[in-house]
Amino acid sequence: MSEKFDLIIIGGGPAGLAAAELAAAKKKSVLIIEKDGWGGTCTHRGCIPTKALLSCSKYYADLKKLKRMGINIAEASIDFPAIKKHQQQIVKVSALGAQKLLADAGVETKQGIGEIISSSEVRFTDASGKSELLSTQNIMIAWGSVPQMLPGITLSERILTSDGILNLNSLPSSIIIVGGSVIGVEFATFFAELGSKVTIVEILDRIIPLEDQECADLLRQELIRLDVAINTATKLESLKDTGSSVVMVAQKDGKQIEISADYALLCTGRKPLLNREELEKLGIEYTKAGIKVDKNMMTNIAGIYAVGDVTGGMMLAHRAAQQAKIVAGHICGDSDFSYNENFIPSVVYSHPQIARVGYTQKRAEEEGLSIEVVKSQFSANIIARAELMGQGFVKTVFHDEKIIGATIVGEEASDLIAPLALAVSNELSKKQLRNWVIPHPTLSEIFTHITV
Ligand SMILES: Cc1cc2nc3c(=O)[nH]c(=O)nc-3n(C[C@H](O)[C@H](O)[C@H](O)COP(=O)(O)OP(=O)(O)OC[C@H]3O[C@@H](n4cnc5c(N)ncnc54)[C@H](O)[C@@H]3O)c2cc1C
Repeated sequence: MSEKFDLIIIGGGPAGLAAAELAAAKKKSVLIIEKDGWGGTCTHRGCIPTKALLSCSKYYADLKKLKRMGINIAEASIDFPAIKKHQQQIVKVSALGAQKLLADAGVETKQGIGEIISSSEVRFTDASGKSELLSTQNIMIAWGSVPQMLPGITLSERILTSDGILNLNSLPSSIIIVGGSVIGVEFATFFAELGSKVTIVEILDRIIPLEDQECADLLRQELIRLDVAINTATKLESLKDTGSSVVMVAQKDGKQIEISADYALLCTGRKPLLNREELEKLGIEYTKAGIKVDKNMMTNIAGIYAVGDVTGGMMLAHRAAQQAKIVAGHICGDSDFSYNENFIPSVVYSHPQIARVGYTQKRAEEEGLSIEVVKSQFSANIIARAELMGQGFVKTVFHDEKIIGATIVGEEASDLIAPLALAVSNELSKKQLRNWVIPHPTLSEIFTHITV
């Protein structure tokens, strides 16, 4: 058997990278094994390619504003292969960044499959089938997640998940998106802004069901303005690839509806990637929602940790990375890192974006908290007006004079939520927030009105 590592990480996504970097910085010997692309789902099939695409569609959609600012340009057109090239280039930069981070940190890397044999042994197998047994003090499982399929629906060339749609080489003239939550709405925004006819089919009675109703309503209006057909309270019955199109049959208002399109995209959630045989052989406890862990992210087997999407819950890259830092901290005897699911900010990267941290008004009311809700509008902010940002607002929720939640709908919401995440996670009081001085003129000045 080879040298003994302090930590072997299986999975090179945001979770694996964060733990590797931190543990190596604390002088631990770390090996990370990745079977596919460095950076994981986030870099190759998730956060990064989608945001590269959305930046293209946003620039295109925003061209309409330029005329109002006195800028006349010749008629714009779309070069879809060039958009795809931008996507691929950004993914490449992100993957190279992940590899550089590991190299700079002095982390050993292996490309292939990692299989846990015991709490101190991992078998590594490379693409040629050659394997070796590796010895370690600690193991971190960071296997990630995969798209959740609907029973009775078969994937094909035209019926795709978010993985497959990212390989599309031409812009569909029409697309049915099954699922009106975060990923579905992001793709709906991208395709609609480029001119595809988009139909969303959602079984619940609203889109973005976990977010504030008023914010989701504003987004709904914007999607309708982009000519997206939104069918809520609609139950998919069948989806067939005819070879030249897809045909969907669904139930809406007690009636059967049939819709055809070029492609269908299934955005019906994600599930943890659970290698059940391996987990059962080792006696690691899990449910279908994910691997069970304690507050240090350790499984029921001492020395084996699990983090990120494989643990279920909020499947987000920054949450995965924070969980991973807890593991690295625990192994290195550093308890500075902690994690509270309530304080993980989440973003819908539609246009407008919706970003939230902590309580929504609805959740606070359902829990019977006495709350004060304070709203501040983009329309009262001069930068939002000057830059033609359209409608938007921030909605903050206070309990006992302390901020417990905030949701923003509007441009730049994904960045604007960062200071509020700090405020909510530290439960800052109104008094403390009143001394928060914000530069003028900025969009951030919307926050000066939340404590008056
Ligand atoms: C379309 C889409 C958009 C998204 N957008 C966002 C966003 O904007 N913001 C955000 O925060 N999150 C976003 N996410 C979610 C985000 O991608 C995940 O939460 C994040 O990647 C989880 O990180 P992870 O390290 O747990 O797992 P992953 O990133 O899934 O990485 C797991 C890695 O483990 C490898 N692996 C698995 N088993 C083995 C094995 N046995 N041996 C070796 N390697 C193995 C896999 O190949 C994979 O690379 C998005 C997801 C999707 C699908």
